Amino acid sequence: MKRHRMQLPREVIVGEGTIDTVTEVFQRLGFSDSALIVTGYKTMEVAGKIVLEMLESRGVEVDYVVVKSSNVDEVQKVEEKIRINRPQVVFGVGGGTKIDVAKISSANQSIPFISVPTTASHDGIASPVASVKGFEKPYSVMAQAPLAIIADTEIIMKAPKRFSISGCGDVVAKLTAVRDWELAHKVQNEYYGEYAASLALMSAQLVMENVELIKENNEEGLRILLEALISCGVAMSIAGSSRPCSGSEHLFSHALDLTASKHALHGEQCGVGTIMMAFLHGINWKTVKQTLETLKAPTTASELGVTVEEAVEALIKAPTVRPERYTILNEINMDSHFAEKLAKNTGVID
Ligand SMILES: [Zn+2]
Repeated sequence: MKRHRMQLPREVIVGEGTIDTVTEVFQRLGFSDSALIVTGYKTMEVAGKIVLEMLESRGVEVDYVVVKSSNVDEVQKVEEKIRINRPQVVFGVGGGTKIDVAKISSANQSIPFISVPTTASHDGIASPVASVKGFEKPYSVMAQAPLAIIADTEIIMKAPKRFSISGCGDVVAKLTAVRDWELAHKVQNEYYGEYAASLALMSAQLVMENVELIKENNEEGLRILLEALISCGVAMSIAGSSRPCSGSEHLFSHALDLTASKHALHGEQCGVGTIMMAFLHGINWKTVKQTLETLKAPTTASELGVTVEEAVEALIKAPTVRPERYTILNEINMDSHFAEKLAKNTGVID
C-alpha cells in the first residue's frame, strides 16, 4: 500500500471577535516566546496590529513583515526574516496573497503557521497549498496546512463584498473539480478519495443552497461561506493534494492569469470556468450560472474584464497549463472553433 499523509489544522475558530483568541490559541498550541507576522499594508491596520499588540502584551517577542503580493521575492524576504529571528510560529494575517506567502515561507523554513484571514476570497485560507508568482508553476503547490485558523467575521465583513462573492466562485468550482478527479481516477487510475471528494462537493452544495443568505453579506451568510472554504481546505489536506478543489475550471483561471492583460479575482474566474466545464461534463451548468448571477458574481468574459479573444485563448491554453492534471479538457480537442462554441453556448461570450 502506498503511504498517504494527511496534515490537518488543530484549531479552527470562526465567529465575531475571534481575533481576541490569538494569544489563547498561541499558548494552547504550546508557544510562548516569539512570533512573526506576515501581513500587508492595509491588513496591518485592520488586523495585523491587533495580533501584534495582543502578543506583545503577553511578553511575546513579535516582529512583522509587510508584503505586497505573492511572488518569489516576497517569499525570500520572509524566509530571510525567519532565518534571522527563528520565531516559533508565523502568523499570516491578510487576504489570500499574504496567507500564501506566510504559508510557503514558513513551510520552507520548517516553522508552523497560523492563518488569520481578513477576506473570504478563496480556499487558500485553510488549505495546505499556496500559489506564488515567479515560480515555475502558475498554480498552487503543496506547502503546509495551517496549524490553526482564526477567522474573525467582524473583520472579514469589513472587506469589500466582492471578495466574499469571489470566495463563492471558488467553492462552486468544486462541482467540476470533483468530476475531473473522478474522471482521472477512471481513465488514469489516479488516487481518488471519496471522503475528500464528498467534503468538497458538500461545501459547494451548501453555498449554492444558501446564496440568498450569503449575498446579504451578513454574519450568518459569511459564516456558511467560511465554513465551506475551510472544509475545502481540509478536503485538500485529506486528499494530500489540491485535486478535490481544483480541476479544469481552475486551469481556465490559471490560463487567464497568463493570457489576459488585466484579470479578475481567482474565485470570479473559477466561477466562470465552472459554468463552461459543467457544460462539458454534462452537468447542470445553468444552475451554476444562476447561482453566480444571484450573487452578482461575473458570469461572462466582459464581466471578468477580459476580451472575447483572451477568454478563447485561455480556454485553448487551459489543458497545457498543468499537463499532469487529467481533466475533461483531455477528452476533447480544444481548438479555437471548439473554444468559441463552448463560450458562446454557455453565454460567456456573445
Ligand atoms: Zn481555488
